[in-house]
Amino acid sequence: MAFTLPDLPYAKNALGFISENTLSFHHDKHFKTYVDTANKLAAGTEFENASLETIIKGAKGPLFNNAAQAYNHAFYFNCISPKAVEIPANLKHAIEKAFGSVENFTSEFVKSAAGNFGSGWTWLVQTKDGSLKIVNTSNAGNPLTDDLKPLLTVDVWEHAYYLDYQNRRPDYLKDFVAHINWDFVASNFK
Ligand code: MN
Repeated sequence: MAFTLPDLPYAKNALGFISENTLSFHHDKHFKTYVDTANKLAAGTEFENASLETIIKGAKGPLFNNAAQAYNHAFYFNCISPKAVEIPANLKHAIEKAFGSVENFTSEFVKSAAGNFGSGWTWLVQTKDGSLKIVNTSNAGNPLTDDLKPLLTVDVWEHAYYLDYQNRRPDYLKDFVAHINWDFVASNFK
């Protein structure tokens, strides 16, 4: 069974802070290449019929990289909303418990993502004991390999923001946190 490239959950011109041009390259070229390459690499191996999660937890090297990038991009695009989304109460309480306030969380998240050196991802995750924390991963890294449950992610590879923000990653991040799809984040939270 091959993985398919999911459509973006919004129109390419709907976000404002990320341009249609960026979304065209990011979704139609970068994301598609990861999906196609993961399919090619999984074919004929023990992972041919495995889920992306299973591949992420079990594979190494190029198959891990491409499957994780396929998972990470699908997850990332779902984390963004064209319109402001109110944060559901149960998630709000958990974030307040872990970070003091939602504002403090977004500020810590932006700080962590701004400081994530090179290419990678910054995540809000839930640990085995149910608590929340922010983690950075490099390159294709995904928290599932550390038994952490992804709730929210931002892509800090330059291809995610360079056409719109050039080197101003912190500005991209400030706009990103104003467009978080909290309903999606809450749907991952148990
Ligand atoms: Mn990307």
